[in-house]
Amino acid sequence: MRIILLGPPGAGKGTQAVRLVERLGIPQLSTGDMLRAAVAAGTPIGLKAKAIMDTGQLVSDDVVVGIVADRIEEEDARKGFILDGFPRTTYQAEQLEAITSPGHIDLAIYLEIPTEVVLGRLAGRRVCTECGTNYSPQSPPKAGTRCDVCGGEVVQRKDDTEGAIRRRLTLYEQETAPLIAWYQGHDKLVTVDAVGHPDEVNARLIRAIDDRRQAIPVPPPARPTRTTNA
Ligand code: AMP
Repeated sequence: MRIILLGPPGAGKGTQAVRLVERLGIPQLSTGDMLRAAVAAGTPIGLKAKAIMDTGQLVSDDVVVGIVADRIEEEDARKGFILDGFPRTTYQAEQLEAITSPGHIDLAIYLEIPTEVVLGRLAGRRVCTECGTNYSPQSPPKAGTRCDVCGGEVVQRKDDTEGAIRRRLTLYEQETAPLIAWYQGHDKLVTVDAVGHPDEVNARLIRAIDDRRQAIPVPPPARPTRTTNA
């Protein structure tokens, strides 16, 4: 399946994507993670993106579309993927159709969550600098500031400060929220309540995906070709 996770920063897209990877056996394609990796590696894209990301603005459409176009060509993404943080603008959604094919995306899942819940989550969010695992005040790393998964350093993201959070939420409303109607218009949208423990939200997501899978017509088996004895 080819799935898009939509929703404001702090809705739990990354947390849910990691769980879906395990469940569905398809990779998570997070443009935020890919850009942070480029920043850490000091690539030309990373050098340009760093200041933009730190202040909570959007990296240019063409850069992000290029990154995604390259990534979905890789072998592991052939049987499906979970897009997390992309598309973020209508232009990106249109480009995604152009680099895959119209109707190629099976499902856009909108993680619906009130702004006040998101503000609380983002202020308390901590993240591993090595593997990207998220932590919260309710589930902090067991070993202080070291990641439970890989032992990397756990810090607050530069764009989880108050000013940057405000800017990201405004940009979300202006640029990304219109995609909810866009995918509804393409008959791909499912809305899932994203309030609650990640396990509960995950169970809702799995139900939504299973319902959709059942609704997708299964193609008839290929007919065996006849051999004739000449
Ligand atoms: P995220 O981890 O998804 O919150 O993304 C972190 C930051 O990376 C965003 O605030 C943007 O600066 C940048 N970014 C990630 N995905 C995109 C995208 N699809 N379009 C533009 N900028 C993006």
